Amino acid sequence: MRILIVEDDINLNRQLAEALKEAGYVVDTAFDGEEGHFLGDTEPYDAIILDIGLPEMDGITVLEKWRGAGRAMPVLILTARDRWSDKVAGIDAGADDYVAKPFHVEEVLARIRALIRRAAGHASSEIICGPVRLDTKSSKATVDGKPLKLTSHEYRLLAYLMHHKGEVVSRTELVEHMYDQDFDRDSNTIEVFVGRLRKKMGVDLIETVRGLGYRIQAPTNAN
Ligand code: CA
Repeated sequence: MRILIVEDDINLNRQLAEALKEAGYVVDTAFDGEEGHFLGDTEPYDAIILDIGLPEMDGITVLEKWRGAGRAMPVLILTARDRWSDKVAGIDAGADDYVAKPFHVEEVLARIRALIRRAAGHASSEIICGPVRLDTKSSKATVDGKPLKLTSHEYRLLAYLMHHKGEVVSRTELVEHMYDQDFDRDSNTIEVFVGRLRKKMGVDLIETVRGLGYRIQAPTNAN
């Protein structure tokens, strides 16, 4: 899952980025409204954290432009404490949720998890596919109750497939959601990660859909 943070407070931006990376997300950062607007307009993010008070272009304008162009990714806005009018303007502009400053990073993480889950159609924090369970809260996965020891890339791959279970996900899509913008991307590595993940899981749930990509799906006779 790939997140964009648009926040001009360098320390706050860094603090959020570290916490999100720690939780298994890929993170891109922008420090003004123009840069943030450009990234959100051109890169596919699973969620965006957008500060309202930004240099170059304010957060409300950035959000209105994205929504006006049909960009539908979940957006969490950061508002100044006591500025209730910012919350109203933000939600009217198309924000999905907000957090008022100062906040605990844990609250932002919980809200981002919920936004990503809901955007993929999952109400619960645990996503289940046959014997595989993905706990989005702890960023851990189990097969038949046994913990899977995954590298960060393997976890990101499994998490993306699980959020989109039953759907065919292309290699390009996986690359776009597993690496940040500065990473030297190579879609051939996805095949290697899928191979490793299958081996660690020990169950054959990830199907290769020839020429299209991959799909994780529970066996039809299981729930
Ligand atoms: Ca600001």
